[in-house]
Amino acid sequence: MKEYDLTIIGLGPTGGTLANLIALSGFSVLVLEREKSFYPLPRAVHFDDEVMRVFQTIGITKNFLKFTLINKGTKFVNSKGKVILDWPRPKKVTENGWYPSYRFNQPDLERQLRKQLKKYKKVKIQQNSEVKKIKNFKDYVKIFFTNTKSKISHEIKSKYVVGCDGANSITRSQMKTKMDNLGFTQKWAVVDLILKKNKKKLPDRTIQYSNHEQPATYCRNVGKRRRWEFAIRNKLSEKTILSEKYIWNFLSPWLKKKEAYIERKTIYTFESAISRKWRKERIFIAGDSAHLMPPFMGQGMCAGIRDVSNLAWKITYCLKNKHDNKILNTYQSERFSNVKEYIETTMRMGEFVNAVENTQITKNISSGNDGIKSMQSIKPKLGSGLGEKKDKRRGKIFPQFKLKNGKNLDDKFSVKPILLYSSDINKTLSNKFNSIDSRNIPGLLSYLNHFGVKAVIVRPDRFILSSIKSRNSFKKFLKKNSNFLV
Ligand SMILES: Cc1cc2nc3c(=O)[nH]c(=O)nc-3n(C[C@H](O)[C@H](O)[C@H](O)COP(=O)(O)OP(=O)(O)OC[C@H]3O[C@@H](n4cnc5c(N)ncnc54)[C@H](O)[C@@H]3O)c2cc1C
Repeated sequence: MKEYDLTIIGLGPTGGTLANLIALSGFSVLVLEREKSFYPLPRAVHFDDEVMRVFQTIGITKNFLKFTLINKGTKFVNSKGKVILDWPRPKKVTENGWYPSYRFNQPDLERQLRKQLKKYKKVKIQQNSEVKKIKNFKDYVKIFFTNTKSKISHEIKSKYVVGCDGANSITRSQMKTKMDNLGFTQKWAVVDLILKKNKKKLPDRTIQYSNHEQPATYCRNVGKRRRWEFAIRNKLSEKTILSEKYIWNFLSPWLKKKEAYIERKTIYTFESAISRKWRKERIFIAGDSAHLMPPFMGQGMCAGIRDVSNLAWKITYCLKNKHDNKILNTYQSERFSNVKEYIETTMRMGEFVNAVENTQITKNISSGNDGIKSMQSIKPKLGSGLGEKKDKRRGKIFPQFKLKNGKNLDDKFSVKPILLYSSDINKTLSNKFNSIDSRNIPGLLSYLNHFGVKAVIVRPDRFILSSIKSRNSFKKFLKKNSNFLV
């Protein structure tokens, strides 16, 4: 029976990113995907700087950038057309080294992820393969799948399995865990259009039409692509709502039929839910199979990319060293509260778009000079897990510095944590470790001084594992965790 280091079920954006992250360390990966090609209906159009940093790690940004557009932000408009809230995304590079927000077309990303995977000899992608059953054993997992064309069944062994198999995840049901419904369930139509000619009158920003009668969203996407989403508040059939007549009537305030093609259209039930368990022994779930949120903040796929960025280096660590339950358990404990905050904020945004009175989307809302309220993006830290609770920097994102030679710090490390130290940490201690002296990173010493620390240990997912105040605390860290650095 064939055996792999990791088997990934589902080749959506979550599975494709995870396969790339694991392949960086040279481990064997099998990806089982039920479908022959990409999901054909409208889905993600937005991602953020933190996610672009993961794409940088796997090496796709250079090619993928061509298919993106820097997003200027969102305005919320009431039924009288008045702006009632602004969510600006200024064109300014953030601590992650990228712009805060990008627009894209999900199939373009999936294409880049697959293209990149072709570079790895030890990655095998098997399409038309539907997973039917997954069974945990002490040192491995058995996966049973069927070829959807020939109907022939197969079984393979794998050291770990990650189900990136979307909302109706077989992996989640094999783990015998449940999704908790967090309370937002609403039917919306989603229509993707391609303009025949550019239309300057259409907004350059995302517009959320906060209107009790007809909540709706407009997205300015890449090139001539535009999207409208609208809540379904009537009892008409799906067929009627998706008819040309109904759609063009809805679009009439903005567009005439002769000005654009309808590329794709569908009706979704937007949901908010989170799985109780994300791991059972050697089986994990990530992305939509672990959580669902409505698309108002454009964070569903981003959350899945964050999941696998967190999980990949922990699985890599176990493959290189030994199976470590403690580390693997921190996947859920660190990710759960982070994604829950995104789901809950998105739900409040959904209520705001539905014009539910007194909805406060986040605490980060201030009044601008023009009297319009302005909202800032949330950046939840990781839940408890690796590192010390009392360490205030632990679990926060570490900025992407530039090295003295102008290269990006992230491009120096991607599979194991790194120690970034000032000269106060004895060099002999750090020499054998994966480390960089702060003298090679302009601005790092001021960063360390600002937080009163002598060194930081940064994880491959770019979060801080530990901040070190003295040589003694560094020695203490090493006693427990030196494996991370060698
Ligand atoms: C209208 C809309 C707009 C959205 N906008 C955004 C946005 O702007 N930004 C954002 O971040 N997110 C957005 N999202 C969410 C985003 O599209 C999803 O979160 C994302 O696609 C989830 O990726 P995934 O890889 O986890 O799952 P999926 O993309 O669903 O992939 C799962 C894969 O698993 C395969 N599979 C399933 N079962 C099996 C099996 N038994 N065996 C083998 N293979 C299997 C499927 O064929 C599929 O290819 C939006 C969603 C919608 C509906």
